[in-house]
Amino acid sequence: MNKEYMKKWREKNKEHIKKWRKKHYKKHKDYIKQHKKEYRASPEGKKQMRDYRVKHYKEHKKQLALHSRQIYIKNAEKIKAKLRKKYANDEKYRIEKQAHNKLHYALKTGKVKMKFNCEVCGSKKDLNCHHSDYSKPLVFQTLCSQCHHNIHRENNYLEDL
Ligand SMILES: [Zn+2]
Ligand SMILES: [Zn+2]
Repeated sequence: MNKEYMKKWREKNKEHIKKWRKKHYKKHKDYIKQHKKEYRASPEGKKQMRDYRVKHYKEHKKQLALHSRQIYIKNAEKIKAKLRKKYANDEKYRIEKQAHNKLHYALKTGKVKMKFNCEVCGSKKDLNCHHSDYSKPLVFQTLCSQCHHNIHRENNYLEDL
């Protein structure tokens, strides 16, 4: 059977194939679902999902950013109100915020300076300030966003223990 013929055949029987697929899917639904679930839990399945997400993120970065921005604008008042409430009720959050504000001001006025590299990995990209002790607002580490993220994840983990 040649390719051209197959193509024509498929074209002609499109509806039929569709129906068959549907029927087949229905019949083996649970099996397919189970199989997919198992695949997703396997190392290569996990890797594929991760690769897909990374690819998707890269391709739609701009739209995603725009979208989250739009959501933020739409809910800005709600979010602000929520944060104000949090600020009033959550002491930990308040101390954190105050430390950030003090540091921000000190950076702006040149009292303290950020380093030019991440203190953990040396990266120059996406640098942030990290407080290890919020009661000392001007004592901070310069970290790239990745290392900063890692540190907070570790801290959360330790807090959970
Ligand atoms: Zn780093
Ligand atoms: Zn931090």
